[in-house]
Amino acid sequence: MSGLYARERQSVSCMAHLRFFPQAVVGGSGAYLTADDGRRLLDFAASWGAASLGHSHPAVRAAVDRALSDQAGASYLSSANEACVLLAEKLLSLVPEQARGRVWFGHSGSDANETVARMVIAATGRSRILAFDGAYHGGTVGSMAVSGHPAQQGARADGLTLVPYPNSYAADTPQAASEAALAYLDKLFETEIAPDEIAAFFIEPIQSDGGMLVPPDGFFRAVEERCRRHGILIISDEVKVGLGRSGRFNAFEHSGIEPDIVVFGKGLGGGLPISAVVGPEAIMNHAVAFSLQTVHGNPVCAAAALAVLETIQRERLTENAARTGRVLRDGLDALSRRHALIGDVRGHGLALGVELVGDRASRAPAMRETALTVYRAFQLGLVLYYVGVRSNVLEFTPPLTLTESEAREGLAILDQALADVAAGRVDDTLLADFSGW
Ligand code: PMP
Repeated sequence: MSGLYARERQSVSCMAHLRFFPQAVVGGSGAYLTADDGRRLLDFAASWGAASLGHSHPAVRAAVDRALSDQAGASYLSSANEACVLLAEKLLSLVPEQARGRVWFGHSGSDANETVARMVIAATGRSRILAFDGAYHGGTVGSMAVSGHPAQQGARADGLTLVPYPNSYAADTPQAASEAALAYLDKLFETEIAPDEIAAFFIEPIQSDGGMLVPPDGFFRAVEERCRRHGILIISDEVKVGLGRSGRFNAFEHSGIEPDIVVFGKGLGGGLPISAVVGPEAIMNHAVAFSLQTVHGNPVCAAAALAVLETIQRERLTENAARTGRVLRDGLDALSRRHALIGDVRGHGLALGVELVGDRASRAPAMRETALTVYRAFQLGLVLYYVGVRSNVLEFTPPLTLTESEAREGLAILDQALADVAAGRVDDTLLADFSGW
């Protein structure tokens, strides 16, 4: 496995995770990437690269081509172009009634979450924010300030309070996990912070980077009820699991809640950088003070996003995520019966996680084996990545266009990779200084 991107050349990159993928990608089509030696790689980490529709989707290519030839000069004032207006109208139609006010466009999940944090504080006059332990809302200072992931400890805001996200696998039962998290929240309100100082609660309807944690039934309804009682806004971060990936268009729909503000990113642009905050006018009007970045709302990215949303609807990709996700899920459950490393399989649609453990009784995290599985899968032709606050959860977020046979192909590779890791057949020199996140 030599080539342009060999191990020694990676020193030019700051991205530690490239140790697992020591080859450059030179192309891609559908669910496959092409590496620089011509190898085809099945991409089960498409959400990291924002390839919601797979690689080189014709609808995205056509929209971008058109926008580049017709409209590229139209960004004389950010967002003042037809593609952006149409995209805003489309996004407004996809969120709950109370969020149907206005739309702010950014480039990434990070800038969207940063902007929304500033807006809710300005709009409500309240200075505190709630978020979950383990929540990843971005990598800029402002979005890290409202995050709870271990990768982001350096920049927490003074006004941030973190509460536990219920972890059904770590607890005895989902219900016990839910009750403990709600009890924590209630005690916090009674003894530590006045709820009427809290502007908003950032939620991830499935906590993805924290470990693909699926909230227990009823948990978010109970959170919503508390937020309504205290006038706390709910911001649903749909950046990774939204836009059809979970088998529902918005991932919060699984919980039956109606957030006040919805944040979209990653796959929204089908590979191009665009994010969006959608919320009520009274809050969104404060965006004006924080707006106007040079190329946000540019017509090329907006056209790509419009094509993505239209394609999701036209090709019924939300339904495909549910159906193919079921095949993947059943296959992962079957693997868990044969591989002792697998402690838990969870998720919805094409947002799935597999937690690897050293032994099932103690549920001790198998961090090193997780990294080795990622690397071995890559060698065998499957791109996977890991998440989890303990770096021991394999994440499955393939393109929404995934077919059943591609799902089965990925499962077969994973099966082999897990067997090779368990038998000690994987070279671990790449992991010499590996310590998780
Ligand atoms: N929110 C969530 C839920 C995410 O998963 C991520 C990225 N992992 C972000 C926000 C940040 O998005 P970006 O990397 O585009 O800034």
